[in-house]
Amino acid sequence: MKLSGQIALVTGASRGIGRAVALELAREGANVAVNYVEAEARNASDAAEVVKQIESLGRRAIAVSADVSRPADVQQMVETVRERLGGLHVLVNNAGIVRDRTVQKMTLDEWNEVLAVNLTGAFLCIKSVLPLMVEAGYGRIINISSLVGVTGNFGQANYAASKAGLIGLTKSLAREVARKGVTVNAVAPGFIQTEMLETIPENYRSAFLSQIPLGSFGQAEDVAQLVAFLASPQASYMTGQVFHVNGGYWM
Ligand code: NAD
Repeated sequence: MKLSGQIALVTGASRGIGRAVALELAREGANVAVNYVEAEARNASDAAEVVKQIESLGRRAIAVSADVSRPADVQQMVETVRERLGGLHVLVNNAGIVRDRTVQKMTLDEWNEVLAVNLTGAFLCIKSVLPLMVEAGYGRIINISSLVGVTGNFGQANYAASKAGLIGLTKSLAREVARKGVTVNAVAPGFIQTEMLETIPENYRSAFLSQIPLGSFGQAEDVAQLVAFLASPQASYMTGQVFHVNGGYWM
C-alpha cells in the first residue's frame, strides 16, 4: 500500500470526486479526515457514510464540518484533525462550487462566492496545514483544479478564474516549499460524472461527450487514482505540475 500510516484531509469529501479520493486514499492505507459543509442537510449523513466505509477498510476516519471559505472553520478543522488523527501528511483541496452565468449577467455575489470557496478556501486550508508539514519536513498538497481553468468556458468566468488561480497558487507554493519536503500539484479533471456535471444542460453535455476521444465521461475514481499516486511518497520528484484527466478531450 502506497499510503500506509499517512494521515490525509480531503475537503468536500461527502460526495463526488472528494468521496472517491477519500476512499482511495484509505484503500492505499491512509487514515482520513472527511470534510463536509453543513450548507446542505444531507452532507453530514453522507460524510458519516464515507467514514463508515473507510472504517470498514480497517482505517481510522473522522468527519469534520467546516466551510472552507471561513478562516475560523478551517483553523478549527485542522486543529481537530491534528488532535484526533495525530498529524497531517496529505491535503486534498477538492471543495468546489459553480454559479454559472455569462459575465454580462453575473452578479458580484456570484463572482465572490465561487472565488471564496474554490480559491480562497484552498489558500486557507494550505495556510493552516503548512506549519505541520514544514515542521515534519514532509507533505503532499493536491489542488483539484479543472480543465476549464486552462481553456475557459462559456458562462463560467468565475469558476474558470478560480481554477486558473489554483494553478498559479500551486506553482508558486511548489517553489516556496520545495526545500521543505512538501510537494504541491494540481489535478485538472475534464468532464467527470458527478452531481456537478448534471448542472450542465443535457444538449451541451452530449455535445461535449461527442468530442471525448475515449468515448465516455470520466468517473470520480479515475481522478482518485491519480490523486492517490500524487499523495504518495513515490511521487517525490513531481511538483508544481498540472495533471489532466479528461479522456483526451483536450491534449
Ligand atoms: P460535487 O458538487 O459533487 O462536490 C463538491 C463538494 O464540495 C461537495 O461535497 C460539497 O458539499 C463541497 N463543498 C461545497 N462548498 C463547500 C465549502 N464551502 N466548504 C467545504 N465543502 C464544500 O462536485 P464534484 O464534481 O465532485 O467536484 C469536486 C471538485 O472537482 C470541485 O472542486 C470541482 O470544481 C472539481 N471538478 C469537477 C469536474 C466534474 O466534471 N465533475 C471537473 C473538473 C473539476
